[in-house]
Amino acid sequence: MRVIDAVTEAAPGSANEDLWLVGGDWALVLDGAGRYPGETGGCIHPITWVVARLGENLAKNLNGRSADRLADLVHDAVSATMRDHGLTCDLTDPLSPGAACAVVRHTGSHIEWLVVADCAVVVEQPGGEYITVIDDRVDRLPDAPVTDGAVKTYRPEFVATVRNKPGGFWVLGAVPEAAEHALTGSLPAAGVRRILLCSDGISRLAERYGWTWSAIFEQFDSTNAEGLVRAVRVAEQNDPNPGRWRGKRHDDATAVVLNAR
Ligand SMILES: [Zn+2]
Repeated sequence: MRVIDAVTEAAPGSANEDLWLVGGDWALVLDGAGRYPGETGGCIHPITWVVARLGENLAKNLNGRSADRLADLVHDAVSATMRDHGLTCDLTDPLSPGAACAVVRHTGSHIEWLVVADCAVVVEQPGGEYITVIDDRVDRLPDAPVTDGAVKTYRPEFVATVRNKPGGFWVLGAVPEAAEHALTGSLPAAGVRRILLCSDGISRLAERYGWTWSAIFEQFDSTNAEGLVRAVRVAEQNDPNPGRWRGKRHDDATAVVLNAR
């Protein structure tokens, strides 16, 4: 796989908690799950540290264990990241820090993917169709109480009951079993033209602002990855009612576009 172009940009005025990495036959995007106000999540480390450790442990496993299942590599990368915290952190805290993740790998014959939480994989097929792999379980929690403010949010007390729990939603960080609950799949590589990996700071073009994936790839073709971030920022600035969405008005935005071969 070859990177055609990639970009990562922090939300205005904040540190970038997204990360992208590529190897010879794989690529990944991580999106740190921010802390809830007033909550440490039992961890002394910045979210950017957690994302960097996850990225390094995932890259090591992807580079060294190409015969193993993606979910096993991800499981073990979470375990290694937990060890990296050392004794300073209580990772049994249900709000312990973590990240959303999207990984793709070329096995020689197939393109495989694994997606968990707010990152996405979009596969462009030779006929111009798109396969989207989006984990929206956090948006489909039954009877979820949403708090209205500048933007809609879930209360930390509620999140603690559904995060990394069956029937809830999963993030990578403190529960290795989350890897088994990720969305996974594969396609013969001949059926794949290009692949977009992105954080929800980019996929909101489709999920919030109604862009088709075809339009998003056309924007990429005319302005490269940087242009996707610009399009997001314009849509956010022109949003007549950002309070209608659950989640931040602006978010870190990361996009990696790959050729399948
Ligand atoms: Zn920690």
